[in-house]
Amino acid sequence: MTTSLPEHFPPSPQADDEIVNRLGLSADELRLAKEVHVQGTEHLLERLRERAVELTDKQRELSSAVAAELDATLRAYGIGMPDRPAPEVIAFEQADFLESTGRTETAQQRTGGIFIPALHTIVLRYLKKAWSNDARNETFVHTLAHESVHAAGIRRMQTILTSKGDAAIETHRSGLHIFALDNPEHSRFSDLDEAVTEMLAITVSNRVIRARPEQFRTTMVSQIAHYLRHAPDHAPWRTLAVRMGWRPTDSDERTSAIAERLLDEKKFPYSVGRERFRSYVKQRRVLKKIMDEIGRRNPNNYGTPSDVEALFYRAMIGGTMLELGRVVEKTFGAGTFRLMAEDYFGKDLQERLESGRP
Ligand SMILES: [Zn+2]
Repeated sequence: MTTSLPEHFPPSPQADDEIVNRLGLSADELRLAKEVHVQGTEHLLERLRERAVELTDKQRELSSAVAAELDATLRAYGIGMPDRPAPEVIAFEQADFLESTGRTETAQQRTGGIFIPALHTIVLRYLKKAWSNDARNETFVHTLAHESVHAAGIRRMQTILTSKGDAAIETHRSGLHIFALDNPEHSRFSDLDEAVTEMLAITVSNRVIRARPEQFRTTMVSQIAHYLRHAPDHAPWRTLAVRMGWRPTDSDERTSAIAERLLDEKKFPYSVGRERFRSYVKQRRVLKKIMDEIGRRNPNNYGTPSDVEALFYRAMIGGTMLELGRVVEKTFGAGTFRLMAEDYFGKDLQERLESGRP
C-alpha cells in the first residue's frame, strides 16, 4: 500500500488550476496540491484491521454489488470509473468507530462512515443493534455507496505534517470538495459535494436493494409504511394509498398491508420513501433547485434531468469542474459558482436560483 498508493493518484491532467485560482488558493497550496507523497500509512491500516468487525458473506457480496452498481450507474451517464482499485472496507463497532475517526459522539451522530484517502479505505460504523439483519445491511449498503462515491471522486492528494511530526496525507480535492491546507475555512463546495454525492449514492443503493426484493422486503415495507405515516397529506404516493382504501387512522397492520400492495404492484418507487431517510436533505433541496433551473434555462444542451445530472457527476467523478462552472455562470450569472462554493445556503444564491430569469 505504501509504495503503490501514489500510482493510484497520478497528478490530474485536468486543467482545473484555473478554478482553484479563482477560488483564491495560494500558490503554495496549489504546489502542494500537485505533490503526491505517501509514507507511514501501513502501520495505521494494520491497526485498523486488527479491531475490525468481520463482515458477513452477505455483506461482502453487497460490497461488490455496490461497486458494480456505481460503475454501471456512472457508465449510464457516459462516465468511466477512475482506474484504481476499489477501496478497502473496514467496519467498526461504535466505540472503535468514534475513536478511529477522531470525532466526538455528538459530531459523529449522523455519520455512518468515513472515507480515509491516505489509506484508500472506507471505515463504516457497524450497527450492532439494528432491528433486523436486513435493516442493518440496508444501512450498510447505503453508507458504503455514499463513501464509495467520495472515494471515486478523489483527485489530488497532498502531504501535511501532523503535530507529532509524522507525514500525513490530505486530499486536496474530493469530488467537488476543495480543501485548503491548514485552513478549513477556505474549504469550498463541501455542501454541494455532499448533495451530489448523496444523490448518486441514493441511486446506487436503490439499485442494489431493489435487485434483492426478497432480502430487503421487510425493510422496504416498513419504510413505505413510515412514509405513509409521515408524508404530507397531498404527497402523491400517500394520496394513492388513500385511494386504495388506506386511512391515516388505520392500524399498523393495515398500513403495512397497503405498503405491501404498493410495493408488489410496483406502484411505489422505493426511492421516494427511502430518500426521506437519507442524509443531506437540506443540501439536496438546494441542489434540486439548481438542477431544475439549469434544465429549464438550457433546454437545448440540458433538455432532460439526466443531462443535468451527468453534468454534475462528470464534474465530481470525471473532474470536469470548469465545464460545470461555466454552465452555472452562464445560467445564473457571474459569481454564482463562487456563491455555491462559499455560501451554499445564503440569500444571494437563493435569489439567483429563483425562476423568472430567461
Ligand atoms: Zn459524505
